[in-house]
Amino acid sequence: MKSLENRVALVTGSTSGIGLSMARRFAMAGAEVVMNGFGDPAEIDKLREEIAEAAGTRVHFVPADLSKGAEAQMLIKQTIAICGRIDVLVNNAGIQHVANIPDFPDDKWDAVIAINLTSAFHTSKIALADMQKRGWGRIINVASAHGLVASAGKAAYVAAKHGIIGLTKVTALENAKSLITCNAICPGWVDTPLVRKQIDARAAAQSISVEAATKQLVGEKQPSERFVAPEHLAELALFLTTEAGGSITGSAYTMDGGWTAQ
Ligand code: NAD
Repeated sequence: MKSLENRVALVTGSTSGIGLSMARRFAMAGAEVVMNGFGDPAEIDKLREEIAEAAGTRVHFVPADLSKGAEAQMLIKQTIAICGRIDVLVNNAGIQHVANIPDFPDDKWDAVIAINLTSAFHTSKIALADMQKRGWGRIINVASAHGLVASAGKAAYVAAKHGIIGLTKVTALENAKSLITCNAICPGWVDTPLVRKQIDARAAAQSISVEAATKQLVGEKQPSERFVAPEHLAELALFLTTEAGGSITGSAYTMDGGWTAQ
């Protein structure tokens, strides 16, 4: 039997990058999966069908703008309405904005905090009520190396990611006696559109090639000098959903090529 058979898993921000890898991996492990995120509706539908066909499981897409608390709560309610329950929730959707504090636009601060931190409160609030009925659940919050250490220019992101590790610990403690766990995953650099924007900005600012900017960006923080693979993060997330992962709760797992070991 596949480890997520008869389980329902929702991954926020799963139309791209890390979330997409996790949605794919959970489906291959037998879960009925709910995808969410922005993108071209036709392309999202193609992705959804492709994953469903490869995995032989049901895959749904539920749109929600997670910068809005009411939509984040509605996403969980719709998941439960469609699938009957929610067993695994991955709070993954995230955005980045880079600027020093005096120049940091107020609306960007609000958006980064809303999407990267507050949405996880809203989704967890509704999902936990459902998980508590059965006494089983897995919540995985995708934080970052920036949940543990800081970088200049990333005030909102670092605050949100440190915050979500705090939320992870409280969620874990409130549910510790049941089989509901909550953990954070802290990736280092992963080659996704979120990071590509930063590489392109660096290449433009320094008039260097994209290749040189990539090498500089990754090498500066990540001793491995290699990107972390989204598929490897998906394997870690999958492990946390297994019965063997059941005693792990309130933890923040790094997969960062040595970034936070320094
Ligand atoms: P990505 O840009 O590839 O994916 C982000 C996803 O979030 C997309 O599906 C996007 O549509 C969705 N999203 C953005 N705003 C949304 C909103 N308002 N409502 C609903 N969905 C929204 O980025 P990624 O790198 O895969 O990032 C995923 C998570 O991993 C984020 O939380 C990010 O902070 C974290 N992370 C990324 C890296 C990295 O190096 N890429 C490192 C550490 C942590």
